Amino acid sequence: MGMFEELKEIVGEENFSDRAEELLVYSRDSSFFQETPICVVRPRTGDEVARIVRLASEKRVPIIPRGAGTNPCGEVVGRAIVLDLSGMNRIIEVNERDMYAVVEPGVVRDELNRALEAHNLFFPPDPASSRVATIGGMLANNSSGLHAVKYGTTQDYVLALEVVLPSGEVIETGTLARKSSSGYNLCRLFVGSEGTLGVITRATLRLLPIPEHRETVAFTIDSLDELGGVQEAVMALLPAAFEYMDEICLRVLAEKEGLKVGGGSGIIAVEFDGVRGEAEACAERLRGRFGEELSTGDIWEMRKTLVPLLATYSDKSPLAVTEDIGVPVSKAPDAIRRVKGIYGEAGFEVAVYGHLGDGNLHMRVFGEPTPELEQAADEVYSYVIDAGGTISSEHGIGRLRKKYMEAQHGPALELMKRIKQALDPEGIMNPGCML
Ligand SMILES: Cc1cc2nc3c(=O)[nH]c(=O)nc-3n(C[C@H](O)[C@H](O)[C@H](O)COP(=O)(O)OP(=O)(O)OC[C@H]3O[C@@H](n4cnc5c(N)ncnc54)[C@H](O)[C@@H]3O)c2cc1C
Repeated sequence: MGMFEELKEIVGEENFSDRAEELLVYSRDSSFFQETPICVVRPRTGDEVARIVRLASEKRVPIIPRGAGTNPCGEVVGRAIVLDLSGMNRIIEVNERDMYAVVEPGVVRDELNRALEAHNLFFPPDPASSRVATIGGMLANNSSGLHAVKYGTTQDYVLALEVVLPSGEVIETGTLARKSSSGYNLCRLFVGSEGTLGVITRATLRLLPIPEHRETVAFTIDSLDELGGVQEAVMALLPAAFEYMDEICLRVLAEKEGLKVGGGSGIIAVEFDGVRGEAEACAERLRGRFGEELSTGDIWEMRKTLVPLLATYSDKSPLAVTEDIGVPVSKAPDAIRRVKGIYGEAGFEVAVYGHLGDGNLHMRVFGEPTPELEQAADEVYSYVIDAGGTISSEHGIGRLRKKYMEAQHGPALELMKRIKQALDPEGIMNPGCML
């Protein structure tokens, strides 16, 4: 029996496809990479995943786990069997007293939180793509978002995982206990592994009670020089979210989203959550202290629509290069200046926005992908690494940032390759991604 026939036998005819039009859909993610897969399979159970991976291992055929395909780094694009896990989307258990949920990897993040509302619980990591991003994709990328400043990232909410290893063997790692000092932390190894070490088929996630109240305060700043002072004042109050958007973002939001603003060279938006009186008191401490307070519209909704809106700013395309850098928190104001300076000198305009509370800056560069742009990007990354930062805070490495891994990790990259070799000696799991 040929491999396609065997795959059909495992998942059923209806959950297998090698039709050109479907392969076209699966040939892309949210990056500019494109490659036609060998075929697509849509397993429904962990057992089906294990049988598929075992088959791929026997035949030495590459395999790529895929959630919603929202990653912007070419992580799910390649000549491989694409394992579409979006159909494995059951919430298996919600345990209110011990505050955890057991879920399959295809559960969409916002759907999980909608289901958790009835239990007054939530899963905090919140990528802007949360309406479509799956828990499997979030785990494999260690995703986070606006609230990472207070709540951390996906890795902080993993109690246990079920993983199909590249051999097809199934392991369970982690416990239901909140703390454990037993053995190597394999959960953390799989979190952020971008589908290169195995397929996560079940996750037990730590949950928190929904905060009683959220209070937002948003205001303009007149110059980048104010950012250090703003940062000090806001961080002392333990914000739940703390965002910066530059002058280009401000103009786009004023023009397209009706944000009423007299001027300014950027926007700061801060959220406090918790007990109502406390959240309100924290916000009150910031009111009237900096620039013009913004009161029109929902600044968080505006922040979520910012990326697509930036496409309307210029007749040049907003390119996602160096779009996810992270620096130590106190260096974020300097990093904004440096990024603008480096791209400016190379002749590119750049819009910068991001999480001022955790040092993670996003950006869109307006222009064409030229060698000058690549050189400027190299310069940004080398500044970030010298500053003790990261080439990616939350979006991942994929095929996009692979060439910077050596500069970022030095000899530790060799250890990562040895771990990959030990778990996946045939190199079938998402080859070409990350390492
Ligand atoms: C508009 C937009 C906004 C975004 N905003 C944010 C943001 O604010 N914060 C943030 O962190 N990210 C953000 N992202 C990036 C992306 O949405 C996240 O990384 C997301 O968690 C990916 O989920 P996904 O289901 O789309 O995964 P995919 O893109 O399908 O896959 C991502 C990675 O996970 C692996 N994978 C998927 N499922 C499994 C599994 N079950 N087992 C093993 N590996 C698996 C894949 O092989 C791949 O390497 C954004 C993307 C877009 C397009």
